[in-house]
Amino acid sequence: MMAQPTREELEAWDRQHVWHAFTQMAHYEPLVIERAQGARLTDIHGRDFLDGVSSLWCNVHGHRHPHLDAALRAQLDKVAHTTSLGASNSTTITLAKQLVDRSPAGLEHVFFSSDGASSIEAALKIAFQYCQQSGEARERRTRFAALGCAYHGDTLGSVSVGGVDRFHTMFGPLLFDVVRVPAPEMHRLPPGITEALALEYYVDQANQVLAAHHEELAALIVEPIVQGAAGLLVHPPGYLQALRELTRKYDILLIADEVAVGFGRTGTLFACEQEQVTPDLLCMGKGLTGGYLPMAATLATDEVYEAFLGDHSEQKQFFHGHTYGGNPLAAAVALASLELFDQEQTLEHLPEKAARLAEHLARLAEHPHVGDVRQRGLIAGIELVEDRETQQPFPWQQRRGAQVCQHAMDQGVWLRPLGDVIVVMPPLSIRLDELDQIMQAVTHGICQATEAGKAVCE
Ligand SMILES: *Cc1c(COP(=O)(O)O)cnc(C)c1O
Repeated sequence: MMAQPTREELEAWDRQHVWHAFTQMAHYEPLVIERAQGARLTDIHGRDFLDGVSSLWCNVHGHRHPHLDAALRAQLDKVAHTTSLGASNSTTITLAKQLVDRSPAGLEHVFFSSDGASSIEAALKIAFQYCQQSGEARERRTRFAALGCAYHGDTLGSVSVGGVDRFHTMFGPLLFDVVRVPAPEMHRLPPGITEALALEYYVDQANQVLAAHHEELAALIVEPIVQGAAGLLVHPPGYLQALRELTRKYDILLIADEVAVGFGRTGTLFACEQEQVTPDLLCMGKGLTGGYLPMAATLATDEVYEAFLGDHSEQKQFFHGHTYGGNPLAAAVALASLELFDQEQTLEHLPEKAARLAEHLARLAEHPHVGDVRQRGLIAGIELVEDRETQQPFPWQQRRGAQVCQHAMDQGVWLRPLGDVIVVMPPLSIRLDELDQIMQAVTHGICQATEAGKAVCE
């Protein structure tokens, strides 16, 4: 056995050796979690924090849930890993059946991978290869359409369809060219466009782009209902369904990226359900294993799948795979997580929590430096601005969002912002009193990091 490192060693090694994602390591202050229980994280100094962002949007039923822990241990007594290349295992098969049964009707085939980004890569390549194998008319459909400020992951294909300038512009020379559909930004509507006109306006924009490019497009990819990393942009109701109609009209595949919104986040198991939409391809990740293990999946319709069937000599199989795709340990936890949705009536308890969150947000919306609050289910974004009237942002160098989250930590709540948008995305299992504590810490943080707005802060 290796000697147990001291707390000082852990923090020093963390700084020296662990290269953290999306983190300026020159200024990194170690936060080293030792254990967790429910929505509570405990660090190596014994400090407790509520997990206000579900360990980056993936925890569902809380940490160390006995049912999930037991499922993982039971699978360990069978087998930890088998390959999905030409072979299978009983746990992963059972999960595939459950995912098909619980996802929008018509999605029948499950391609497993390891992370959200890899589920996107798989979807893009499936769409591309589908077009190559679906007759001459479709062979010219080699490009993709995606929304403005979309986020689909950090591998090169998913970055290509992404549109968050801050993350993506620098890699431009490595990326393939994508057709952009303007994203609905309800809090910064163009002049003359009211909220009532927004749906029609943005659908018309999408129609114009697709009309101009449809002959070269294999697919349109969209984060349904809420665009996550863009700053939690909530689309106007009806937008997803309209995109479904447009993609049918122009014979373009629709890829729904449910990596962030899947598994109950927006109130239904999948966000597509809210507009009765079945996409041609649906990507899931983050919440699939309840936040326990890396696993992702790309679901496809019969029509897409059948283009890959043929004799060996035709070479039509999907030329793509990940070593750990469909890993049985991850599948066992994912299955147990789906069972918990039934046993604990996770979705049935959400409206009460979403309503409590909405109450807190309504109060915060009065703060002079809150430009917008937006919410769908247990996703909320609070956007800080320098000037409410003009929606003028704070100079980004001031890092107000990060300051808010720093102050929230003093109140025992851990959050991670998207620039100046404060993200609140607790585990779905969060209790109402915990939700109150999170929102009190957010309010405290905003009041500390901006000039106090009296009515809200006192
Ligand atoms: C997080 C995210 C991804 C990427 O998932 P990873 O597991 O981080 O690769 C893709 N799409 C959306 C919408 C996401 O929020």
